[in-house]
Amino acid sequence: MIERKMYIAGEWADAVSGATLTTLNPSTGEELGTAPSAGDEDVARAVSAARAAFPIWSGMTQAERNKVLFRIAALIRENADEMAKIEGLEHGTPYSDAFGVCMGAAEKFEWSANAALRIKGDEIPVPGDTLTFIKREPVGVIGFIIPWNLPTIMTAVKLAPALAVGNTCVLKPPSINSLIGLKFAEVISKAEGLPPGAVNVITGPGGSVGAAIASHPGIDLVGFTGSSETGKSILASAAPTVKKCVMELGGNNPVLIFPDADIDASLKVLAWRQFNNSGQHCSGPGRYYVHESVYDEFIAKFAEYARNLKVGDPSDRAVQMGPMVSREHQSKVLGYIESAKAEGARVVTGGAAQVPGRGFFVAPTVLADCTHNMKAAREEIFGPVAVIIKYTDSDDLAALANDSEYGLCAHVWTRNIGAGMKLIGKLRVGAVFINCQMLTNEQPWGTSVKESGIGKEGGMYGMLEFTEPKLVCVNFA
Ligand code: NAD
Repeated sequence: MIERKMYIAGEWADAVSGATLTTLNPSTGEELGTAPSAGDEDVARAVSAARAAFPIWSGMTQAERNKVLFRIAALIRENADEMAKIEGLEHGTPYSDAFGVCMGAAEKFEWSANAALRIKGDEIPVPGDTLTFIKREPVGVIGFIIPWNLPTIMTAVKLAPALAVGNTCVLKPPSINSLIGLKFAEVISKAEGLPPGAVNVITGPGGSVGAAIASHPGIDLVGFTGSSETGKSILASAAPTVKKCVMELGGNNPVLIFPDADIDASLKVLAWRQFNNSGQHCSGPGRYYVHESVYDEFIAKFAEYARNLKVGDPSDRAVQMGPMVSREHQSKVLGYIESAKAEGARVVTGGAAQVPGRGFFVAPTVLADCTHNMKAAREEIFGPVAVIIKYTDSDDLAALANDSEYGLCAHVWTRNIGAGMKLIGKLRVGAVFINCQMLTNEQPWGTSVKESGIGKEGGMYGMLEFTEPKLVCVNFA
């Protein structure tokens, strides 16, 4: 069993109460290790450490902070093998994917250091002998609450830009992936020049520790990624102290396959995204609307892709898809498959738990003959299950795509770029991908559309969320 401590004020700490939580290996269902289960007093300690570190870290020059960020990036690269292994053990990510994720996390720190150099003030012309300008300042202490679907990259995408612009942080990993978060803390702790308390990592149940972070008066901003349901609860916790909240929430992303779509090219992107990370991707396909003229071809090729995937132990370098992250999530995904079957969906391939060991596996699944109003089409499955719906020329594609409580992103595949471009303005989503899916460090992600979130994450838009534009007005007459 692995045993880890929390990282508070530059020291390794147990919970004051001594309580711990146990995490599991999703490939076997066996116990993997323990982490402290923090209480309110641990949250208070972490917040006060971050507050004490704030004047030190924010008072450093950008060049000084950037040196630390580059050291963190180098440390992540040096420790990527170990970090990838723990990601495989606790999250079920196949090794090569997990290693790539660690490289991506290192890049986030390098990119953020470079991007912070591009932040400039902004002068606003005013009459008379007065100078007015906007000064960008760090917001202060940020509370980060991380989801389990991509714990390492989600930590980096939040922490790196926040630190780059001078904030300090209290970060809570998802409880079921606490060891991954604490491994990240261990790597960061070795970065020379990072003041104690600039980054604090505390572990424990979301309902208590996450809520304590969101409601603490010493936290200036909450950065959260997770389900819309939890997001609403966090907004309620943050409301009494009127905190800014940057929220990356749920989605049920429509995929629109036009009659002239390049089916092979579309599946290279969509089927990969559907099954990579066991379908636990917020930007991935949620429901497919496929024109009747290419429906059979699309389904046959999708099913072939699914059948050829190697599913199993993530430490096996040939494995492409591991288990679901938890038994609870496995049951939820299987429940969606059962409900779709009961409502008339046809299982083309998969459709059940796949058990190469005792873990929380779901076979790569393709469901055909689904309808827009089925539960599996209306809700976020967040698993390796393709929900495919046939449409005809008489259907209003934009109306179908928009008929959802979510508005995260949409995928459009057509050789008629003009037709695809005309849809952009009609789709109520934060991102539209036409004939591709690409998310680089420079591109912002997230949306304030419907229940999918508030604000942006990543890119310069995301970095600026972690700054406060202060108005300065100087009369020099
Ligand atoms: P979740 O909402 O269950 O948990 C997310 C985090 O919140 C965890 O750290 C959890 O411990 C904590 N938490 C739980 N209850 C809390 C509470 N009451 N107060 C404060 N914190 C609490 O989400 P998840 O299941 O870990 O992640 C999957 C969800 O995340 C999906 O809905 C997915 O769409 C979404 N997601 C969105 C994006 C995006 O960019 N929009 C990215 C990744 C994941």
